[in-house]
Amino acid sequence: MRWTERLSVRLMVPIVAVLALSLGASLVWLYRQQKQELMGRAREETELINEITKAGLRGQMLRNTEDMTQETIDLIHEKIELDGLALLSKDGVVRYSAESANLGEKMDLDSPICAACHAGEATAPTKTIEVVSASGARVLRSMNLIENEPECRDCHAADENYLGMLVLDRSLDRPLARIDRVQRSLVGVGFAALLTIVGLLFLIVQRLVQRPIDVLIDGTRSIRKRNFETTIDVGVEGELSELAEAFNEMLTDTRSYLQEIKGKSFELSTLYTIVDRVTRSIDLENLRKIILDIVNEAFSDVETSLIAIRPAEGGEVHVGTRAPGMPTTSNILLDPGELERIEKVVDAEILRRWLDGEIETRQLSDGGARADVPLRPNGRDIGLLSVTKRTGRAFDEVELHLLDALETHVSVALENARLYSLAITDELTRVYTMRYFQNALAEEVGRYERYGQKLSLLMIDIDDFKRINDTFGHPVGDEALRRVARILREAVREIDIVCRYGGEEFTVILPATGGKAAVVVGERIRAAVEATPFDISPEVSFRLTISVGSACCPEDEATARHLVEAADAALYRAKRDGKNQIVEAGDVA
Ligand code: GH3
Ligand code: MG
Ligand code: MG
Repeated sequence: MRWTERLSVRLMVPIVAVLALSLGASLVWLYRQQKQELMGRAREETELINEITKAGLRGQMLRNTEDMTQETIDLIHEKIELDGLALLSKDGVVRYSAESANLGEKMDLDSPICAACHAGEATAPTKTIEVVSASGARVLRSMNLIENEPECRDCHAADENYLGMLVLDRSLDRPLARIDRVQRSLVGVGFAALLTIVGLLFLIVQRLVQRPIDVLIDGTRSIRKRNFETTIDVGVEGELSELAEAFNEMLTDTRSYLQEIKGKSFELSTLYTIVDRVTRSIDLENLRKIILDIVNEAFSDVETSLIAIRPAEGGEVHVGTRAPGMPTTSNILLDPGELERIEKVVDAEILRRWLDGEIETRQLSDGGARADVPLRPNGRDIGLLSVTKRTGRAFDEVELHLLDALETHVSVALENARLYSLAITDELTRVYTMRYFQNALAEEVGRYERYGQKLSLLMIDIDDFKRINDTFGHPVGDEALRRVARILREAVREIDIVCRYGGEEFTVILPATGGKAAVVVGERIRAAVEATPFDISPEVSFRLTISVGSACCPEDEATARHLVEAADAALYRAKRDGKNQIVEAGDVA
């Protein structure tokens, strides 16, 4: 902004103009008054001198003492410092004069000086006028008729009623010099007054208007730079202060509004992350890990978090934890009797109450710094999420809201995962179902085809299993199947996939495993089954063996269907060759 556009300048220019005009007019008026008075005084003095001189000269003229008259004129001229003093006869001839050169000079009535008074008439009234003398100086010329004695008028003719006329020139130098001084003083005072008033006015406008407005502008600019912590103090009372106050109130509202928006935005983005991430996995175990990750990321100062999944009847509580000093494992199979182990993370009492079905809604403890949230999709109590703040700071509105939203999404995701887990898990043996096997194998074959990663498949059949059923009954057969499945699970790696192919047949998918390694695994499984006594009850005890067929991509067959066929053929060969052995598909003619 240019300085000429500033409010203080715009305000001051007209004020100063009006002020200067009125001050100027006042001073001019004062000057005129002074001048008039000084000139009037000079005129009065001149006329007084004239009267006194006239009085002195008149007596002498009446007495006709010419020398004395001339002397008196010279004396008065000298003492009173007149510019000129002369006596004119009635016919306008200079009879006496302080300037001897003028003596006998006849005045010309038509000259501009005489004409001013006479205006064409023969007789001149008494008058004082301002003229420029013969020497070029400005003078007051005072003219005064010297009358004859009134007693003489009756005898003398009318034109002898006066003796002559006194003409007196008095210099105007002194009054003009004083007028000049007055003029200069007034101009000086005028300027000084104007400057003082302008200065004061500037200070007042600056303090009462410009500065508060600058402060308001600075405040507004600061907000443009997103500094919402600004408060404005204009430092003066009145409307601008009210404006600043309104501004500050508006800022306070904006701050809380922003806070609200930030909270909502945080909530939304966190919710988005939650939904995005919990829907990425349907695997229950993986999901517990993801949920703990989300909790620890969504709430910046969370110290511990725990998720517990309600066990099936008589089973174990699956617990995932994130806490200092605790293993970051996502899955502790925890007997309800061992709650003390995780007491650091969860209040054992709360966990107990939750297991007893007493916790139905979110519970806050430790002054609001700890939240225990039951996970209840469709009212089914499937888990508990427990979150504790490191700082001891209570969960705020936004966080609690978020926690509720988290609960909803996490519950649904966990329920889906649970249902999915049920769908892909064989009820009896807890290994994957045939349906899961088909998909998993197709996926692994795809991986082999894309990346060339090797893949092996074991096909397992329990030898003479019918005999177990026939001898001990179906329930014992079921238990034997369960134990064989556990041996299988324990004999393979985390990434290997154990499935129940049907009846008493199992398959094991071995990703990233070549034919030789697969035989090693198959042999290990076979040996483990053979070595395990099946002590079902004190009365029922037996041993089992299995036959294994093994096939491998790319050595044997390159598609899922052919891999299964190849492994099956190898299994068939193992049975035919006497059971309790492993046969490689490559060895089947
Ligand atoms: P082989 O050595 O030739 O395999 O002889 P096998 O007796 O095992 O013969 P086969 O495979 O024909 O018989 C399978 C038997 O497994 C038949 C069935 O009674 C039993 N079986 C299949 N599924 C189950 C089950 O879920 N529970 C029980 N208890 N038995 C089952
Ligand atoms: Mg069979
Ligand atoms: Mg069999």
